[in-house]
Amino acid sequence: MATGKQQRLQFDYHGAKNLIDGKLVESETGRRYDSINPADGSVLGSVPEGSEADINAAVDAAERAQPAWAALSVSEKGAYLRRLAAALRDHSEALLEIEVRDTGNTIAEMGKDVENGASQLEYYAGLGYELKGSTIPATTQNLHMTVREPYGVVGKIVPFNHPLMFATAKIAAPLMAGNTVVVKPAEQSPLSACYLAELCADIFPPGVVNFVTGFGGEAGDALVRHPRVKRIGFIGSVETGKLIQRRAAEVAVKHISLELGGKNPMIVFPDADLEKATTAAMNGMNFGWQGQSCGSTSRLFLHADIHDKVLADLVAKVRARQIADPMDPEARVGPINNKAQYEKVQWFCKTTLEEGGKLETGGRRPDGFPEGGYWWEPTIFSGMRPDMTLAQNEVFGPVLAVFKWTDLEETLRIANSLEYGLSGSVWTQDITKALTTARRIDSGYIWINGVGTHFPAVPFGGKKNSGIGNEESFGDLLSYTEEKAINIIL
Ligand code: NAD
Repeated sequence: MATGKQQRLQFDYHGAKNLIDGKLVESETGRRYDSINPADGSVLGSVPEGSEADINAAVDAAERAQPAWAALSVSEKGAYLRRLAAALRDHSEALLEIEVRDTGNTIAEMGKDVENGASQLEYYAGLGYELKGSTIPATTQNLHMTVREPYGVVGKIVPFNHPLMFATAKIAAPLMAGNTVVVKPAEQSPLSACYLAELCADIFPPGVVNFVTGFGGEAGDALVRHPRVKRIGFIGSVETGKLIQRRAAEVAVKHISLELGGKNPMIVFPDADLEKATTAAMNGMNFGWQGQSCGSTSRLFLHADIHDKVLADLVAKVRARQIADPMDPEARVGPINNKAQYEKVQWFCKTTLEEGGKLETGGRRPDGFPEGGYWWEPTIFSGMRPDMTLAQNEVFGPVLAVFKWTDLEETLRIANSLEYGLSGSVWTQDITKALTTARRIDSGYIWINGVGTHFPAVPFGGKKNSGIGNEESFGDLLSYTEEKAINIIL
């Protein structure tokens, strides 16, 4: 149970450790690397640079721990998950501070990440008794049944935009299903996972939960290619998702779920509630974490009849967002997470101008922020054509592409023309138009008169190259089990 009193570990930003076999450890090579504060480019802390040897040690520990973990009753496993949820709440201020400094995401909009992590742990803890098999009337004289079994050791690889929430929420389903886990956090913002590792060290039996920080090409690849890690859950880019499938297939047949990128359409009809739609167009961009969200509705299709008005109001709203240090509770825009991402955003803005996009706002570094920080104003381009680079590719940054539309068939063709199919949003007061349009957007998660929010137990996942499988749902829990058939011949 959460104590309701805030607690704080003596966390050493410069001495953060990995968790392997219940022990807080350095990497076997002794190498460490720096985590950069995106607000000013200074060194915020450092973490172990995990290698193949560390991954192997973590998998060995997880393998040793797994039979005893799987043998715990549903309520016992659930109690461990609930203890972690309570610890997250007790340490929410400390965790949030690390997370905001390390990611650059604004504190006002990141507060819910700790709670999201805790409530996902509780959601899966409560689903344990639903891990049922079935009986099948294949013959009348015998008994045919299925049981669900864990895979064993599960590898989880997560990205930099919500490191803490992903490192907590995403271990819940595999653990509840009886697996043990090895987590590889994103290299750009690894510190909150190390704090979490310290909490887990005090809660779980050794080896049940392991954290190995390091780079994707080394620690991540070693986890993907470990022959005894049969189930991988990956969140990241399409490019890395495809690479992981290739690399894994070289060593074994694996079950890999992929939550990948998006370039998500939001289609606004002339009869929409325009005030709400305008606010949603801004909120859907997740400027509070600089647009770095897979589900951002980064392609806005405004009907010609309302285009100019909505665009003008949207630009005014976006300009009013306060750009400030992410720890400032008034900040509504902070720095971009890392240098590579910052340069990518700049490149997209330059390319869009060269290709004839009309810059409505942003597209520049704001004045008065530390030199070394990755600051960029929220940016809106209008006059988009489907052939433009910005119209076709995920930026994963604060850049919104606005299209003017008149013909719905043509708009749906453009909306569905990309390799991505993660989310989508439809705005109209006409229920028939809303539902038919929602059905025709080739994406896995659609909002009608909404954006951004993930709802408990509603499956989140992508179609096409945006992914395989879904999360935050009962199906996610089942995906961490294998079904075994038993035929009793009577
Ligand atoms: P990324 O693919 O570069 O990295 C993600 C993770 O994969 C990191 O932990 C990284 O270290 C690891 N990795 C990189 N190369 C690897 C390799 N060869 N083998 C194993 N692991 C490797 O992605 P990113 O730039 O950190 O994150 C942004 C992307 O993530 C965007 O495309 C975004 O849309 C996507 N994303 C998707 C979801 C979703 O739920 N669909 C959620 C958040 C982010």
